Amino acid sequence: MSNTRWFVALAIVAVVAALGYIGFRAYRGAQPESCYACQRPIHVHSRTVAVVNGRSMPFCCPACALSEREQEGKPVRIVELTAFLTGAKLSPNQAYVVKGSDVNMCARAHEMIDVDKRPAGILYDRCSPSLLAFGQRSEAIEFAREHGGEVLPFKAVTAEFGR
Ligand SMILES: [Zn+2]
Repeated sequence: MSNTRWFVALAIVAVVAALGYIGFRAYRGAQPESCYACQRPIHVHSRTVAVVNGRSMPFCCPACALSEREQEGKPVRIVELTAFLTGAKLSPNQAYVVKGSDVNMCARAHEMIDVDKRPAGILYDRCSPSLLAFGQRSEAIEFAREHGGEVLPFKAVTAEFGR
């Protein structure tokens, strides 16, 4: 009887170790890219690529990439956006954005800290106000109707930040 129990215990340890190893491998393989500026994991539907000092760098969201230019005075040029609804790549010249909606993929972690107060994401955050990109103006309008915010061509937003 005690032999059987030992065997069961060893088998359980072996299975747990194997699962842990597989999980670890999967975790490493699936580890999300982190943002060049804020090191937060990049949400695939708000990924933004900007050229920093001649190199293409991934950012967590358009707001974060635009903040990069503001804070350090560097010429950060956004070259690629991601459609929030589909995850498709978008050209900044054709994209529309919803600014200041109640959806902010980057600030989500903060919101869980404050349970009963205002979400911490409302305080200054380089990813706020939230900027989400859309391929079609109609999609952006539809989204803003549900989640609030202002619909703008992306070009207008960069002009505003560049001032
Ligand atoms: Zn960021």
